[in-house]
Amino acid sequence: MPLDVVILGPPGAGKGTQAERIAAEAGIPHINTGAILRAERDAGTELGRAVEAVLARGDLVSDEIVIAVVRDRLAEDDTARGFVLEGFPRTLPQAEALDAMLATLDRELSVVLEFQISEALAFERLLKRGRKDDTPETIRHRIEVQRVPEELVEYYRARGILVGIHADRTIDEVFAEVEDVLETAAAR
Ligand code: AMP
Repeated sequence: MPLDVVILGPPGAGKGTQAERIAAEAGIPHINTGAILRAERDAGTELGRAVEAVLARGDLVSDEIVIAVVRDRLAEDDTARGFVLEGFPRTLPQAEALDAMLATLDRELSVVLEFQISEALAFERLLKRGRKDDTPETIRHRIEVQRVPEELVEYYRARGILVGIHADRTIDEVFAEVEDVLETAAAR
């Protein structure tokens, strides 16, 4: 059975770092919608130009666009044994679209990891990490815009596939917890 994993959580929770480790260990791709969109923008593709202004503002790209991006990416062969999806879904329609895509492949999500961290710590970490265009103001905006909507959490909780991860600890500690959760999920 494929290992199909979604990681939810605020910026600064360490999702990318953990997604990389999961992907490397399981031999499945790490798919990050933000990274895909930034690469499209940098390459100046039609899609990149369409989302450029939205990315610059730090707002959300439309469901339609980002759903199409994920649909295309999941159609690639390297996802046959699973994937770690980061940055998507961010809305309920995106979550429903993902389920529909997986259903056509006769698959369903294995587990949804919700990385939990206080906004104060997220803010502190992002300030330290300091991407070049980050200011305290843009960081606050990102935390605000990227807060995981409660209806999304509820959607997965109701399905019994949501697992909270204590993301306020060291990378190794968080990964140990993640591995336990994935083992349990794989055994189901
Ligand atoms: P991130 O790297 O996750 O912070 O994503 C960077 C930017 O890409 C976000 O600020 C959004 O504009 C856009 N983006 C990435 N994933 C999504 C998504 N699932 N829905 C809408 N916009 C997204």
